[in-house]
Amino acid sequence: MNPLPGCILILFLLTALPAVALERVTLQLKWKHQFQFAGYYAALEKGYYREAGLDVTIVEQTARENSLDAVLNGRADYGIGASDLALHRAQGKPVVALACIIQHSPLVLFTSVRIQSIKDLTDKRIMLLPEETELFAFLTRSGVERNRIVEVPHSFDIDALTSGRVDALSGYSTDEAYDLQSANFTYHQFSPRSVDIDFYGDTLFTTQKHLKEHPSQVVAFREASLRGWQYALAHSEEVIELIRSKYSQRHSLEHLRFEAAETARLMQPDLVEIGSMNPERWRKIADMYASLGMTPHEFEIEGFIYDPRPVKLPAWVNTSLLSALAALLLFSILVWRYARLNRNLNRALVERDQALAERRANEEQLRVVLDTAPVAVITWRKGFVLTGWNREAQRTFGWTKEEVLERNFFDFMVPEAERPQVQAITDGALDSDFVAHSVNHNLTKDGRTIFCAWSNAMFHDPAGNPAGVISIALDITERTQAEEALHAANIGLQTRLEQIQALQARLEELAVRDSLTGLYNRRYLDETLEREVARARREGHPLSLLMIDVDHFKQLNDNYGHRAGDKVLRMLSELLLADTRTEDVACRYGGEEFLVLLPGMPADKARQRAETWRRDIENAAVVFEGHALKITASFGIACYPEHGQDPDQLTGAADAALYEAKHRGRNRVECLQGHFVG
Ligand code: GH3
Ligand code: MG
Ligand code: MG
Repeated sequence: MNPLPGCILILFLLTALPAVALERVTLQLKWKHQFQFAGYYAALEKGYYREAGLDVTIVEQTARENSLDAVLNGRADYGIGASDLALHRAQGKPVVALACIIQHSPLVLFTSVRIQSIKDLTDKRIMLLPEETELFAFLTRSGVERNRIVEVPHSFDIDALTSGRVDALSGYSTDEAYDLQSANFTYHQFSPRSVDIDFYGDTLFTTQKHLKEHPSQVVAFREASLRGWQYALAHSEEVIELIRSKYSQRHSLEHLRFEAAETARLMQPDLVEIGSMNPERWRKIADMYASLGMTPHEFEIEGFIYDPRPVKLPAWVNTSLLSALAALLLFSILVWRYARLNRNLNRALVERDQALAERRANEEQLRVVLDTAPVAVITWRKGFVLTGWNREAQRTFGWTKEEVLERNFFDFMVPEAERPQVQAITDGALDSDFVAHSVNHNLTKDGRTIFCAWSNAMFHDPAGNPAGVISIALDITERTQAEEALHAANIGLQTRLEQIQALQARLEELAVRDSLTGLYNRRYLDETLEREVARARREGHPLSLLMIDVDHFKQLNDNYGHRAGDKVLRMLSELLLADTRTEDVACRYGGEEFLVLLPGMPADKARQRAETWRRDIENAAVVFEGHALKITASFGIACYPEHGQDPDQLTGAADAALYEAKHRGRNRVECLQGHFVG
């Protein structure tokens, strides 16, 4: 026998063997290539499928057929589904859940921030898919019946929400959340987990028939896929590169990174073994469908959940009741511990989601308040580096946010001369919990200097450490100028008022004075006399009145002229004034006639006083144009109460006494003893 054909046959068998050994299988994804399916790409790339004897083709979803139909129709051997696998099983479709990959469904409702709670979605337009049953369950449980919403077919485009065409949009927290954030759209994210609806996310499945015909292939495919997932989570950056280079560039690097982080969060591989499924949770999901009237109540879970490690009990166990009880106890403990872990995990996830939503809402509120505040608000950190700058700050100081952020505000906003003063206050603001106030000048972009009132208060980071200072400024330039102008006007007015008051006092004084001699005039004396007589009567004091008349004055005028007469009258006035008390009132009563009122002075004292004046007048001389002019005067005295009870009686009595003095030869003092006109 020729050995050559034998060798060729052996060589052929050796080279063909691996190819023959690999079983061809197809995996149908439930969406387009992205990080959602990272584990399968990793299993393929790292050769885990090959090691398991499988040649796997990964097919992304097309518009024509979903993963369920592809697997049921036999075009794919395995598919990725979600919690609705339980629904389909209950409806009689022979699907078997092999491994749950994403422990918590990423399906959520996104809304604008106008929607504060799920209840607000009553009668609103919601874009979602008919098969998103957990969202319908979520709405119903939150009090929004299905017939009270307007269902809009899904366009798979966040524009529908951002443009306001719909009020809510279903999507994945792993995916659309990134698109909305990239579009700078502020949104609320509502997860069914907030009402304790905790559905499974992506779940690997096949059909009952496939499992029955290829049990070991199912084991191999499942295990290789789970290995792939372990690798993908540990090397997400590498798998992201792989997706972009071999599968799809539909999503950016950043987008895939976001998806990877969020997917890992929902898988919680540190807490739950990848692929594990809890029969109780599937039961709860099935009950939820039943309560919504979507499936019959008696859903048989048996056979739906694939058990990768069926317990093969040795024959002797059947006879040992004790062992069975021990196994049951162990199983119960495991189930209980698993349930508790799962519950804690759910609670932590819900709390995290709520805290995140609250934080976003708070941040949004703060942003709106700051941007609409009618005062300039800036924030800065140590080193006076600006970190915040609201719209009013731009309007007041002129610079835009972009021009000032990360700059030291002393470099451009504070005039050099005031820097030490402002620095003392801003330093203090960083070190204390009190509000530090200052009033100082500031510079503006267009070169003006304005005057501002500032309030500075420190704020803390979530850990309680000082994070920076928030400073609020009010431009008080115009107010200050107005106040200064008002102040100046006030001072002017005050001066004017004082001048007028002085003038008025002067006028009042002039009104009661005689212009030639400066003595009080007759009008003033009449008023004073009236008052002093009343007072003398009230207090029981005496009062004297002297009437004085220059002797032969007409003659003096005739001889030396009127001006000489005037000079004599002035001299006489000075003589009288030189010897009066403060309470005395000396007055020019008319022509060359004078009256002196002496309150509290009795008749004998008045006579002495008159005698003194008479002598002084007699002895005095007025020099006029070289002539020494000499005069005498006659005095008539009247006293209260003996010569009169009222002003008329008193002046009449004084006049009568004066007449008597003239009659008796002039240059004399007369007081009519016992004279009383009553
Ligand atoms: P007798 O001793 O009787 O009082 O004589 P007599 O000249 O003083 O008489 P009479 O009282 O009648 O005259 C007053 C004169 O005083 C009349 C007037 O010319 C003069 N006289 C009145 N007022 C003024 C004045 O303001 N200045 C001057 N120079 N003379 C005045
Ligand atoms: Mg006279
Ligand atoms: Mg006279």
